[in-house]
Amino acid sequence: MDFRADLHCHSTCSDGSLLPTELVDMAVDIGLQGLSITDHDTVAAYGTAMQRAEEAGLKLLPGVEFSTSHKDISVHVLGYAFDPRNKEIIKFCNTHIEERRRRNKKIIELLIRKGFKVSEEELNDISFDGAKGKPNSLGRPHIAQLLMEKGHVTSIQQAFDKYIGDNKSCYEPGKRHSVEETIDLIHRVGGKAVIAHPHLIKRRKIVRDLMAMDFDGLEAFYAKMPLHQEQPWIDRAREKGWIATGGSDYHGSVKPKLSLGCSWVSDEIFNYFYDIYLRNKKEQEDSE
Ligand code: AMP
Ligand code: FE
Ligand code: FE
Ligand code: ZN
Repeated sequence: MDFRADLHCHSTCSDGSLLPTELVDMAVDIGLQGLSITDHDTVAAYGTAMQRAEEAGLKLLPGVEFSTSHKDISVHVLGYAFDPRNKEIIKFCNTHIEERRRRNKKIIELLIRKGFKVSEEELNDISFDGAKGKPNSLGRPHIAQLLMEKGHVTSIQQAFDKYIGDNKSCYEPGKRHSVEETIDLIHRVGGKAVIAHPHLIKRRKIVRDLMAMDFDGLEAFYAKMPLHQEQPWIDRAREKGWIATGGSDYHGSVKPKLSLGCSWVSDEIFNYFYDIYLRNKKEQEDSE
């Protein structure tokens, strides 16, 4: 098979149901040659995944998906090719995780006010698919899972649709970094910044603003998006001289309809990022 790399998926370190090592194994099993694990606001997956990938002969590209905000609209920014041991990126992730803790507390309070019997302690014990690694970055899917386990909803989707989806009665956006600050941080650690799933941003003005920022690429190939929807984004990337990236946004059982590798990039794009990563890796090791 031709070279394929999935540049967007989530592990148990954020809101996926597979361990980082299990994602690596699955990528090898389905014939991918490259992978990036892009957990929400954490790079903890690389603590175990990097070694597994080396052993399995899979090229693993460091990545992350930051939650940012532009004019109060949520924007996801993908970062690639930094060294995950870089202190500055770890510190940036930690500020997000702290803020998530404050935000989760507020959402739990809103749910309690609605009469649900849920607590922060219970949320901290939540994991998908039984006893797996503890998440570093706890988010709304974990709250949805808690609501389901307590019998308040019948599915994760129902929890979003009724209570915690954007602008629903128990939604709380939390304090987020700006898109510009996030791009700057990614660049400072030698990485590349990419707009995640831009087709999901409904406000044209926001997309226009993002297209004028200092991004290096946009995610043109996403999950099971049909070709006619991809083409405008491929064209926009070409006009800007940006890279058109792609990935599945696989979350395991949390989003059961998506499979790993259902969107992917070829070796040309992957190796462009991977070479940058190898240079950042060398620099990191020289500095230690
Ligand atoms: P958070 O980062 O805590 O705001 O949670 C966002 C994550 O929740 C996304 O990455 C998705 O995995 C999931 N999510 C967001 N909106 C929905 C929705 N309407 N239905 C199902 N899952 C959602
Ligand atoms: Fe997610
Ligand atoms: Fe996203
Ligand atoms: Zn994602």
